[in-house]
Amino acid sequence: ATPTALMVGTGRGAQLGILVRGPEVLESTRRVDTVVLDKTGTVTTGRMSLVDVVAADGEDAAEVLRRAGALEDASEHPIAAAVATAARERAGTLPAVAGFRAEAGLGVRGTVEGTAVVVGRPALVGAPPAELTAAVAAADAAGRTAVAVGWDGAVRGVLVVADTVKPTSAAAVRQFRDLGLRPVLLTGDSAAAARAVAAEVGIDDVVAEVLPQEKVDAVRRLQAEGHTVAMVGDGVNDAAALAQADLGLAMGTGTDVAIQASDLTLVRGDLRAAADAVRLARRTLAVIK
Ligand code: ADP
Ligand code: MG
Repeated sequence: ATPTALMVGTGRGAQLGILVRGPEVLESTRRVDTVVLDKTGTVTTGRMSLVDVVAADGEDAAEVLRRAGALEDASEHPIAAAVATAARERAGTLPAVAGFRAEAGLGVRGTVEGTAVVVGRPALVGAPPAELTAAVAAADAAGRTAVAVGWDGAVRGVLVVADTVKPTSAAAVRQFRDLGLRPVLLTGDSAAAARAVAAEVGIDDVVAEVLPQEKVDAVRRLQAEGHTVAMVGDGVNDAAALAQADLGLAMGTGTDVAIQASDLTLVRGDLRAAADAVRLARRTLAVIK
């Protein structure tokens, strides 16, 4: 009877929009007590829009956006789409990029019209000059993400992008708590932006400003404390943490790399399906026992 009940469980999963790698996944799903959630693209829609361009003293905001847009046009990151779209709207066609490179969880680099340009976190681009710190602080306080744009050894401006929390995320977090699961927000974004999103969906535990490898470390730390950890993510930057977790759940709307690293795929990208999966696993395995 055991294999039949497991197959019924996975079949019901498909109806709920949950793709299960194999029947054995149900056991780790049942034992989960902690749910680690990536922010961008998982708790939020990841469909960002550019809301501000602030140039450093002596720089031209239009040129900062044009060069950043040229680079971001080659990137798959949610921030990149917002920047490239806005740049194309304002500058028309964007210049070609040579030697494009994406640094997961940090940003992108490449050569635009003979100049090496970098877009992303200060750890990659450098610290913004004093006249830009107020703009970065204001963006952080509003829960937005500020990324730096630099070339020739200096930060030339910051781009402010805004994301929106998915309408289903707060309900999903409530369901996790009802199931006795502790939600934790894990992101490469700034602590302030992370806290703003956490407050909006009702999460108390936040780990921010982490690199992809540090996402793995965060999952490991929770496991070392004796927790059975589910990780939900969508990005290339989440793949290693998804593989490390006792249960990896990928957003079906996310990257192939994340899906391949996961045990479960939430087809519609709706976090509530993660709670459905836990309920289903508990029910299915209770029937078997
Ligand atoms: P999250 O963990 O929320 O999904 P990521 O790890 O993908 O976020 O990115 C962390 C941070 O790295 C972003 O908030 C941004 O500052 C920077 N970053 C990553 N990729 C890019 C990019 N293509 N363009 C600009 N900034 C980027
Ligand atoms: Mg993400």
